[in-house]
Amino acid sequence: MTSTDTAKLKRMFDAIAAAIDADKDRLCRLDGVIGDADHGIAMALGFGAVRDALASLDLATTEPTTLLNTAAKSFLNAVGASSGPLYATAFIRGAAAVKGRAILEEADVIVMLRAMAQGIQDRGKAELGEKTMVDAWLPAAQAAVVAQEAGKSLSESLEAALAAAERGAEATKDMIATKGRSSRLGERSLRHMDPGAASAVTVIGAMRKSLV
Ligand code: ADP
Ligand code: MG
Repeated sequence: MTSTDTAKLKRMFDAIAAAIDADKDRLCRLDGVIGDADHGIAMALGFGAVRDALASLDLATTEPTTLLNTAAKSFLNAVGASSGPLYATAFIRGAAAVKGRAILEEADVIVMLRAMAQGIQDRGKAELGEKTMVDAWLPAAQAAVVAQEAGKSLSESLEAALAAAERGAEATKDMIATKGRSSRLGERSLRHMDPGAASAVTVIGAMRKSLV
């Protein structure tokens, strides 16, 4: 069994920030095709701000909930694009889901992931198939829950989440955007991957690497 404390959650956010930084140009290119070309910049600004804010926390006396709420606040303050409130809500919901726990057991991490995905969906009101990050986040969380309930380890469950996110992001190429900026394109959004779904794969991939 792998357990997750505040220090490991901080390492998770550091890993996400590094992965998003490395992916920034691709995400901007994807957003350039069906949006306004800023998605990589927005995500890098957001996770960079999270990394900086978490660096000044005293990890020994900070609970996971507080760390996640700090992440939410700094992400929201740093990002003006629509991904700002979406990820901020994800972290606030993740924080609420693990409230009172000093150490997260494997099942708690899956509960946190599930709450994050639900937060994104609640905040943006996007359904599956509307070509948004929800098309990666929701199947990822569902796959993680199914794997966890089938007795899989955290590592295996996050592997399943990542595979589902990748399939979901790929599937956005066949979707017509009906939410967010790219919905203005209508059918012209076809054949292009949604940038928010693409970055969700990067985020979930970094979580998988850093949480096991
Ligand atoms: P903006 O569109 O304001 O420039 P970003 O470029 O940072 O914001 O993010 C764009 C991504 O946000 C889209 O690719 C999509 O995945 C996601 N998105 C936009 N609107 C919604 C929504 N209502 N629900 C979920 N995700 C959304
Ligand atoms: Mg954009």
